[in-house]
Amino acid sequence: MNLRSLKFLSSLRRDNRQFAVIGLGRFGRAVAVSLYNMGYEVLGTDIDEKLVASALNEKIATHTIRLDSTEPIALKEAGIYEFDTVVVAIGNYVQESIITTLNVKEGGVAHVVAKASSQIHGKLLERVGADQVVFPEYEAGCALAYTLTKPAILDRFDLDPNHSIVEVLVPEEFDGKTIAEIQLRSHYGLTLLAVAEDEETFQINPLPNQRLVKGAAMVVLGSNKDIKKLPI
Ligand code: ATP
Repeated sequence: MNLRSLKFLSSLRRDNRQFAVIGLGRFGRAVAVSLYNMGYEVLGTDIDEKLVASALNEKIATHTIRLDSTEPIALKEAGIYEFDTVVVAIGNYVQESIITTLNVKEGGVAHVVAKASSQIHGKLLERVGADQVVFPEYEAGCALAYTLTKPAILDRFDLDPNHSIVEVLVPEEFDGKTIAEIQLRSHYGLTLLAVAEDEETFQINPLPNQRLVKGAAMVVLGSNKDIKKLPI
């Protein structure tokens, strides 16, 4: 039998320890420093010598190198094509961003994430092979709107524009009821992935007879439309 894998889970979490970030503006630096602080090896690059030097001084990357990412040779010499994941964090220079994305894909990088500054920029990035296109300002704006209107949503992970995994506080309405009793699947169309009263009691795939307590956290998966129906 030939089962075609959706590579769904591997697209969610890549077991990867090495990242290259091209472009050390505000966005690129934020990506680099977060990965670095999580213990990953990060190569940070920029065409601007000063940014490259300050990235190393400020400890936002393991290694830094100055290069012009529109030049395939420069990328090759810096070893960028050996990285499994490359983040093209050049938002305001559309031409440079497109050429860089094309270069790293043609160089054989398996997973390329590129920042877009507009919808048309995003489309072009997809056309030249970007595996993931992000719109940080747009996404941050949507996330802020969510937290302003639904403060009980503690965290969210967007699977696609219409589906998410969210961590929410167990609502009052569910307090003292078992997982079987709240019928999350049939009433709300949602799947319960985990519950936690605190960090030590985090339970993945909880049993149906487990009782929920108001104020504990629960992690559910479903469409954004269904998530909005939760009584939180
Ligand atoms: P902001 O910093 O305003 O949030 P941003 O993070 O999208 O925006 P940009 O202004 O797009 O940043 O610039 C990202 C970085 O990309 C800049 O530091 C710039 O020097 C760098 N850059 C631009 N062209 C190249 C190139 N050809 N090669 C390498 N780096 C480049």
